[in-house]
Amino acid sequence: MKPRLMLPGPTPIPEKILNTLSYPLINHRGEEFAYILKEVIEGLRWVFQTKNDIMILPCSGTGGMEAVVVNALSPGDKVLCIINGVFGERFATIANCFGINVERLDFKTAQPFDLKIIEQRLEQDNNKEIKAVLMVHSETSTSMLNPLKEVSDLVKNHGCLMLVDGISSVGTVDIKNDEWGIDFLITASQKGFLVPPGLTFVSVSEKGWQAVKSSKSPRFYWDFRKHKEFMIKGQPFTTTPISLFFALKESLSFMKNQGLENIFKNYDFLTRITREAIRAIGLSLLIPDDKMASRSVTAILVPDGITPDMIKKKIKQDFNIELAGGQKDLKDKIFRIGHLGYQDPMDILSTISALEITLLRLGFNLKGSGVKTIQELLKDVQ
Ligand SMILES: *Cc1c(COP(=O)(O)O)cnc(C)c1O
Repeated sequence: MKPRLMLPGPTPIPEKILNTLSYPLINHRGEEFAYILKEVIEGLRWVFQTKNDIMILPCSGTGGMEAVVVNALSPGDKVLCIINGVFGERFATIANCFGINVERLDFKTAQPFDLKIIEQRLEQDNNKEIKAVLMVHSETSTSMLNPLKEVSDLVKNHGCLMLVDGISSVGTVDIKNDEWGIDFLITASQKGFLVPPGLTFVSVSEKGWQAVKSSKSPRFYWDFRKHKEFMIKGQPFTTTPISLFFALKESLSFMKNQGLENIFKNYDFLTRITREAIRAIGLSLLIPDDKMASRSVTAILVPDGITPDMIKKKIKQDFNIELAGGQKDLKDKIFRIGHLGYQDPMDILSTISALEITLLRLGFNLKGSGVKTIQELLKDVQ
């Protein structure tokens, strides 16, 4: 069977983009690279819906999180980190590593943020001790889409910095970076960008730059001031994965051809048919409310008697489909279907079809047909 990467990154990538990876390398301090850099920055601004600077860092998304922490904050700074999953936890851990005074606002794993509690905490902060709010937009570990605009509004009222892990949401769902006043927004090439892993993108607002300039955190490789100094010259700060820039240039032109609206619509639809199919089969979604559903991944609770590993192993063996498991507390409870990257409804249809057969082979009685449900939904759109 054909391999199918149904993961929340890395993702399937169109052949035209993959082919660029075989282009001969160029001088990363030459004119050709400067031209590509200029073009990809413009393209990234378009996806981020921002006029802000965008840093392109040679690392995975986690490196971008660390870069934002050391550039925006100084040791001893107080921050509020809102946590309802593994990646929120990671943001807090990174900030702790650098001596930031992290106040955690913990919600249970896979439970929505309580906006009232966030609002009250920010209102209580009369002396403006809180320097920043840290949150994850699409919490990939649970497939919950956290209320970014709502939290941004609260942060705007308070006046502190807004640091956002949008690693699995940028490019999949509407984010108004500038209008919402996001100071640092992080994403990575292997998520919504149809590019292999290795590059991370971070937008930095004017207010963000003030913080970068006054930060006392030690940094060299991550220093945004250095990155910007070189960017202005049309160069990367240090040697960068040049091939990934070829791919990014191609993928941004592919995305432009589709248009942002259509990209978001496609993710909405993939998410919808995945969720409806899962319900039809008789399985439960970890995030039952459609309004809170991530557009890049869907987490599904395993039925009694079946483990996530059993499903993942069997569907890989029998159909060559890669699904994701659960992380940490959810390791034995969920599996996840990624619908991120170069995916269309037929990919979901195949995956759901294979999942149904896999569940039957594992002895689970299907309540109904997910495949039929998707066909019905597809019949209505043209
Ligand atoms: C994937 C992901 C990360 C981690 O990214 P890496 O590229 O693996 O370092 C962090 N946060 C979220 C929300 C993610 O989806």
